Amino acid sequence: MRIVVLTGGIGGARFLTGVRAYARQAGAEVTAVVNVGDDVVMHGLRICPDLDSVMYTLGGGADRDRGWGRAGETWTVKEELAAYGAEPTWFGLGDRDVATHLVRTTMLNAGYPLSAVTEALCARWQPGIRLLPATDDRLETHVVVSDPDGPGDGGVRPADGPAGEPTRRAIHFQEWWVRHRGALPTHQFVFVGAEAAKPAAGVLDALAEADVVLVAPSNPVVSIAPILAVPGLREALAGNRAPVVGVSPIIGGAPVRGMADRCLAVLGVPCTAAGVGGLYGARSADGLLDGWLVDSADAGAEVPGLAVRSAPLWMTDEAATTAMVRAAVDLAATVGRTGTAGGPA
Ligand code: GDP
Ligand code: CA
Repeated sequence: MRIVVLTGGIGGARFLTGVRAYARQAGAEVTAVVNVGDDVVMHGLRICPDLDSVMYTLGGGADRDRGWGRAGETWTVKEELAAYGAEPTWFGLGDRDVATHLVRTTMLNAGYPLSAVTEALCARWQPGIRLLPATDDRLETHVVVSDPDGPGDGGVRPADGPAGEPTRRAIHFQEWWVRHRGALPTHQFVFVGAEAAKPAAGVLDALAEADVVLVAPSNPVVSIAPILAVPGLREALAGNRAPVVGVSPIIGGAPVRGMADRCLAVLGVPCTAAGVGGLYGARSADGLLDGWLVDSADAGAEVPGLAVRSAPLWMTDEAATTAMVRAAVDLAATVGRTGTAGGPA
C-alpha cells in the first residue's frame, strides 16, 4: 500500500510519526507532501519551517518541549546577530538549525531544486518516509493586516479599500505568526507565487500511485491551503483514484495547540470539526475529501457529502497516534471509489 499525506509542520510531524509506525506494521510506503508557504529568507538563509519540523521530528532531532527546532539547541548566532542590531530579532534561529539552512541555501544557490535539497538533508536524518515539498517554486503565505506600524511606514491603502480604515499592508506569514502572534486585525491570506507554481518533482507521481491520501490534522488555513493552492496538485487530487481522508485538527471547538482559531476566523469559518470539514468540502462537490475523521468528543458532526467517523484524536504518544492513523485508513477503505484502498499496491 502507498500512503500520501498532506501536511504542515508541528501537528503534521506528530501525525506522521503515527503514519510511519502504521506503515511499518502494514508494510506500506509513505510520502509526505509538505507545506512551503511558511518558508522565508532571513539573513540570507532559506528557512523551511514545516519541512524542518517534519524532518527533525521523524529523524529524532526535534526539541519535544518547545515543539519546533533542534533538541539541545544553543543561540549564539542569534545573540551575535542581535548585537549587530540585525533585524529581524523576533525569529528564533538556533545554532544547530543554522547548519541546516546553510546547507540548504548553498545547494539552492548551486541550482538544485528544493525537492533534491530535501532529499539530501534527509540522507542525514533518515525520516523513514519520503518528504517532498509541495512545490519547488517560490510560494509564500502573506497576510493582509491593518498596518501594525501605522501609516507612513510604506503601507499602501488599496484603491478599493474602505474609506476611513487604517492602511492595509501584507506581511510575511512568519511576521504575522511569530512576531505578532496573529493578534492583528487580519483581512486575508495570500499565497504569493501560487499561480505560477508547479507541483514539485515526484508529487504528481506519488498521488497517481497512492492507495490512500490522508490530510494531516494540520492548520487548514495556513498549512494545507497553501499546498492546495499549487495548480495541478488540487486537480490531481480531484481526479485521483485514491480516497482522500482528512483528520480534524479541531477538537471540541478548539485547536489542540496553535492559532488555527485565529486563522479560521479570518475566513469566517467556525472553529469546529464540522466547520473545517465543510471548508475542505466533499470531492463529490468540487471539494477535497471523501472522509472526515473527527474526535470522539465531536461524534455526530455532519458535513454534507462526507463520510464522517469519530475516534480519539489526541496525539498523546505514538501508540495513540498510530491508532488514529489506522482509523483514518479504515475510513478510507469504506469510502474508496474503486475499492482499492487497503489492498496491495
Ligand atoms: P505548524 O505548521 O507547525 O503550525 O503545524 P501544523 O499546521 O502541521 O499543525 C498545527 C495543528 O495541529 C493545529 O491547528 C492543532 O490544532 C493541530 N494539533 C496539534 N496537536 C494535535 C493533536 O494532538 N490532535 C489533533 N487532532 N490535532 C492536533
Ligand atoms: Ca507551518
